[in-house]
Amino acid sequence: MNVPVASRDLKPVEADVFTHPEFRGHEQVVHGFDAASGLRTIIAVHDTRLGPALGGCRMWAYANGAEALTDALRLSRGMTYKNALAGLDLGGGKAVIIADARKDKSPALLSAFGRQVGRLGGTYITAEDVGISASDMEIVARETDHVRGTRATGLGDPSPYTALGVFVGIRASLRHRFGSDSLKGRTVCVQGLGHVGMDLARQLHAAGARLIVADLHQPALEQAVSELDASVVAADHAHAAEADVFAPCALGAGLNDATIPEIRATIVAGAANNQLAEERHGEMLRARGILHAPDYAINAGGVISIALAAPGGDDRLVREKVEAIGATLMRIYERAGQRGLPTQNVADRIAEERLAAA
Ligand code: NAD
Repeated sequence: MNVPVASRDLKPVEADVFTHPEFRGHEQVVHGFDAASGLRTIIAVHDTRLGPALGGCRMWAYANGAEALTDALRLSRGMTYKNALAGLDLGGGKAVIIADARKDKSPALLSAFGRQVGRLGGTYITAEDVGISASDMEIVARETDHVRGTRATGLGDPSPYTALGVFVGIRASLRHRFGSDSLKGRTVCVQGLGHVGMDLARQLHAAGARLIVADLHQPALEQAVSELDASVVAADHAHAAEADVFAPCALGAGLNDATIPEIRATIVAGAANNQLAEERHGEMLRARGILHAPDYAINAGGVISIALAAPGGDDRLVREKVEAIGATLMRIYERAGQRGLPTQNVADRIAEERLAAA
């Protein structure tokens, strides 16, 4: 039999799920292929004890299926913890599509993905992620009902809700550290003025904070300087800015051996995913007396907006749940303080307790 064209460009590698280093008892891992559109997808359902597995679909030009599998296993587990800690009755899952979003994306490929999601019968609910837009999800939604974040099911762009959650989280962190959540007279360094960072910067400015900002994109910096009276710091020095709060809102792994010793803020609280380069960096922050808001706790506003949006655009319930991120962080900080543990580890334990009780 001829090997379909779409698989020839992948290097053969061993990719056993059960002995994979990122395998953590995932309930279901499905490989989907569609010859006509070239779709190659892996859908990982990590845990459905709290409900159907909700997690975005990422389109990325992975070098091979093994890389895609690693990402699907890791990200789906992350969603289990994020959804559990956010108090959602949803499990964790993630889909990855092996394709270059700029070259390979087509309606046929998205439709084929929608059919793969449909075959799982609601065990996995998909949404947008890196490489997949809301309009792509409209195409997926023609094939399956198990989609969130479309015009019919959602509130649109989740970023404003993520930004609101981070704002609430920064205030909770200030309250824990200084006994007051007021931003007046406080300085916050926002690293990354994208969808989340710019919105967050506006809220901080309105609440009376002084802003220091960093980005690689000059127009975003100019906007923050003129609109929000921000000062600019070089992108590679943002972590070391003289501020009360460092809010990483750009890329992951920014908290590492090189940056942590240079951080001057006493609070690190921002939207970026996977901020700790390695788990041990949580302990490094704790040992330096830096209060760290675990990323998946503070940046859950987006997934909350995707999960709980009501028809007609009513976002009351969403806002309530996003505001509750403050209380969740306070709980994490208190327990971490009592037990002398890194905040990230405590967040994991609280999520695991909720899962175990389900
Ligand atoms: P975005 O792509 O809109 O913005 C990222 C910004 O960071 C861009 O302006 C970019 O120029 C800037 N940037 C990149 N590298 C930088 C560097 N080294 N120094 C300074 N700035 C740099 O992304 P976003 O949607 O605002 O998300 C920001 C972070 O939050 C990401 O890590 C994302 O995974 C995470 N997150 C976002 C959401 C959401 O709802 N958008 C939800 C949860 C988590």
